[in-house]
Amino acid sequence: MDALQIDQENLEGLSEEYRQAVMAYHRNLDQRAAARSDDPQMPRLAMPKEGMGAASALTQYQTLIEPNLAATLGPRYWGFITGGSTPAAMLADGIVGSIDQNPSTPADSITSSVEQQVIEWLREFFNLPAAFEGVLTTGATASNLLGLICGRQFAGEQQGLDIAKAGMQGANIEVFSATAHASSVKCLGMAGLGQEYTKIATLPDREAIDLLALEQALANSQAKGKIVIANCGTVTTNDFDDLSAVADLCERHHAWLHVDAAFGLFARCLPDKAHLAKDIERADSITSDGHKWLNVPYDCGLFFSRHIDKLETSLSVAAPYLAVESSSPTFMNRGIENSRRFRALPIWFTLTAYGTEGHKNIVANNCLRAQQLANWIEQSSTYELLSPCQLNTVLFRRQSSTRHTALDLQNIDNKKHLKAINETGEVFLTPGVWQGKYGFRAAISNWKTTKDDVLRVIALLEKLSND
Ligand SMILES: *Cc1c(COP(=O)(O)O)cnc(C)c1O
Repeated sequence: MDALQIDQENLEGLSEEYRQAVMAYHRNLDQRAAARSDDPQMPRLAMPKEGMGAASALTQYQTLIEPNLAATLGPRYWGFITGGSTPAAMLADGIVGSIDQNPSTPADSITSSVEQQVIEWLREFFNLPAAFEGVLTTGATASNLLGLICGRQFAGEQQGLDIAKAGMQGANIEVFSATAHASSVKCLGMAGLGQEYTKIATLPDREAIDLLALEQALANSQAKGKIVIANCGTVTTNDFDDLSAVADLCERHHAWLHVDAAFGLFARCLPDKAHLAKDIERADSITSDGHKWLNVPYDCGLFFSRHIDKLETSLSVAAPYLAVESSSPTFMNRGIENSRRFRALPIWFTLTAYGTEGHKNIVANNCLRAQQLANWIEQSSTYELLSPCQLNTVLFRRQSSTRHTALDLQNIDNKKHLKAINETGEVFLTPGVWQGKYGFRAAISNWKTTKDDVLRVIALLEKLSND
């Protein structure tokens, strides 16, 4: 018998061994460095000719790979905006790999119907009207691409073009945004709209859009089709465009309004933060993320639109062998991929296990922990906030020891300081540059982060403050 047959016969025993390996990772998460700072690499082993079987492969994983992982699931990985994973979501994701379903077309199993239910639940969680239909994606980047593809189709129709069919030739479309996320810029390129969009000024000392500047740009534009990318939660300072006013302008100037709310959409589930994302339901399309603040495993993004027909017109797959009759959507007609992961299942599990209350608590607690850190920094004589803490991200830096240090020297000092902080393995922070000042971002998005974790990081910052 070959290794494949033997493994299949021993599937139960193997799954126990694999489960133990996963549990060991979890048990030792607290001893693991939040992130590695030494850029670990695989040894250049020859590709196996004769396979070694799943048990030996696991041993190799445990020696070569597992020790060199980051503690992204741990409570002090505060880099980027990294969600944790709830127990139910994490275990469900293991089921997804093990049952290997493909919700591309419905009818031959219940998976597309589960995805539809999850989209309806999330719509309710975010307080969006039923006019919004949606699809699960690989992340906010993919969702931003879908939003731009919809906007492109809409803008084409305004000038008598069916861009999905005829392409961009002759199309005249202008895109406006103040602080478009880097992923949106990438998507503008992918969508054929060009990365060089019309950059609108921001309000003074803010990342939010200057409405007068937007109004002028829209009024002066000669373009026959217009798309506005509004921001609901910017990564550097967590700022929010005034969505009501932006929606008014888009209506008046017949522009498609896409809102990037990768994590900002979650503000809508907290009474004291909901105003930040007020009127997002006036958007034509909305991006959000599951693998960030919903705390489901990678990869999982969310996309909603009031005009899902624009998406289906652009992305429908026409082939007789793919035609089905079902009361569930054909999700491959709403996304980039034909074959798709059953990423609805971890969301279904986590919402079923912890409910909307449990998930609101995650968001609320993360905001409190960010505020706790920000309060300490505000009182510190060594560190300073670079912008006020609005949500779950704290942007700060070390103050310079002498008052007249040039900005570039301050920045070099802070770059070194960030490296020193991360090298302790106690916490992982990523950089953020605001108004020319190099700082550190602590983005708290994991359900596990407690008051004590923040105190531990404060103690570390205190200890390193004069190094
Ligand atoms: C994280 C983020 C993205 C990109 O999301 P991915 O899930 O990494 O693709 C886009 N926009 C904003 C505002 C984000 O925070």
